[in-house]
Amino acid sequence: MIIILLGPPGAGKGTQAQRIESSQGLVQLSTGDMLRAAVSAGTEVGKKAKEFMDAGKLVTDEIVIGIIADRIEEDDCRKGFLLDGFPRTVAQAEALDNMLDQKNLKLDAVIEMKVDDEALVDRITGRYTCAECNQGYHDVNLKPKVEGVCDNCGSTNFKRRADDNRETVSSRLEAYHAQTAPLLPYYEAKGILKVVDGMADIDSVTAQISDVLSSLK
Ligand code: ADP
Ligand code: AMP
Repeated sequence: MIIILLGPPGAGKGTQAQRIESSQGLVQLSTGDMLRAAVSAGTEVGKKAKEFMDAGKLVTDEIVIGIIADRIEEDDCRKGFLLDGFPRTVAQAEALDNMLDQKNLKLDAVIEMKVDDEALVDRITGRYTCAECNQGYHDVNLKPKVEGVCDNCGSTNFKRRADDNRETVSSRLEAYHAQTAPLLPYYEAKGILKVVDGMADIDSVTAQISDVLSSLK
C-alpha cells in the first residue's frame, strides 16, 4: 500500500505515521527527517537545504524529489510506504506520479489531516522527540509515561527542532497554504483523497486513519 499523509506542519502526520508504521508494517518516509539527517551529517544536500529550513521555507523540488526517488528504490519500500511531508508542491506530486508509473505502482490514498491554523502553534512549540529513536512527544498533549524517559527505547535524551519556534511557524503555514494546499484538489480530482478530523485527540485520529486503511484492503 502507498499512502500520503497530507496536512499543515504540526497536524500530526509524524505522530500517526509512527503508529501506522508499527501497526501496518508500512515504512514511514519523512522528507523532513531525511533533510534534518542530511543537515546534521553536513552533506551537500544538507548544506543546500539548511537555509530554507531555518527560514521555514520549502527546500527546492529538485532536492526532495531526488531524495525520494532514491529512497523508494530501497528494499524496505517493496511492501509499500507512507509518505509524511512529501509531496508538498504540485511539481513534487507530478514527479511522484511519474516515479510510481515507471515502477507500475499506484497511490492508494491521500489522507488529509484537517487542523485549524490556531491549534498548530501550540502543537509545534510543544513538540519534542527522543534523541535516540525519534519517538514524538508533546509538552502537554503526549508526555512519556514516566517523565523524562522515552516509552519506546528508555532513553533519557530528548531534542527539539531548530525550526519549531513561533517565528518560523508563520512562514511554514504560509508555505503550506500557498504551495501545498493546491494538492488537495489535485488528489480529489483523482478520487483518492480521504479526509480525517485532525483536531480530534491522538487516539481518535489513529482510529479514523485505521478505518480509511481498512476500507482500502
Ligand atoms: P507533523 O508531523 O504533522 O508536523 P507531529 O506529528 O510532529 O506533526 O505533531 C506535532 C505535535 O502535536 C507533536 O508534539 C504531537 O505530539 C502533537 N499532536 C499530534 N497529534 C495531535 C492531536 N491529534 N492532538 C493534540 N496534539 C497532537
Ligand atoms: P517537516 O519535518 O515535514 O515539518 O519539514 C521540515 C522542513 O523541511 C520544511 O519546513 C521544509 O523546509 C523542509 N521540507 C521537508 N519536506 C519537504 C518537501 N517535500 N519539500 C520541500 N521542503 C521540504
